[in-house]
Amino acid sequence: MTTERTLNLVLLGPPGAGKGTQAKMLTTCFKLPHISTGEILRAAVKEQTPLGIKAKELMDMGALVSDEIVIGIVEERLTKSDCEKGFILDGFPRTLHQAVELKKILLVRGKAIDHVISVEVAKDELLARITGRLSCHSCGKGFNQVFDPSASGDKCDGCGGELYQRDDDNEDSMRMRLDVYEQQTAPLAAYYADDSLLRTINGSGSIEGIQRNILDILGNRSEWIC
Ligand code: AMP
Repeated sequence: MTTERTLNLVLLGPPGAGKGTQAKMLTTCFKLPHISTGEILRAAVKEQTPLGIKAKELMDMGALVSDEIVIGIVEERLTKSDCEKGFILDGFPRTLHQAVELKKILLVRGKAIDHVISVEVAKDELLARITGRLSCHSCGKGFNQVFDPSASGDKCDGCGGELYQRDDDNEDSMRMRLDVYEQQTAPLAAYYADDSLLRTINGSGSIEGIQRNILDILGNRSEWIC
């Protein structure tokens, strides 16, 4: 089973809950790879690979890409050497089938999930967050037109890069993504609770406060923090 001092973490939560923001911070703290299936798919769309061309329409409308495709992506990614000491999964698994397959993928490698943290935010707040969300093309830093605008207008405060809105960050797509989340992903909470892996946190409030709550849950791994 999982060897000592690994941190195989799954972040669960609806779109807009702040999983990506928290995962980026945790990746710096623990020096572990942040594996976001959404980011991998968006990169494929940008590069117009066969996968990207196939995935784009589904992503734009807020539907899920097929289990077969995303499981293949994650399986390949988890075999990379930077995942030896752990990983932070963001946006995967999203269906029960993905969760079961993830368990099998890890099991054959003598590994297992160590923690699942579900980040919860009310639906109204999610809608407001997502429809105002902007990201930097160059460094990936996130902003919100309403709650956290960039002082430089349409440029990134951090690096001066161009800010853009994701193609799926509009109200129609967001409503679809929330429905998909409720129907297909929310049941994973019970699945992981059965394995005594699930911890739930409130995803409203300051980014730093939420991170502190996550670090409290990870507790005995805090000696890893730089
Ligand atoms: P995210 O960046 O996690 O919000 O993902 C953006 C979009 O990528 C989703 O709305 C889906 O279309 C697709 N996607 C990301 N992760 C998965 C997954 N685990 N299973 C299926 N589709 C996914």
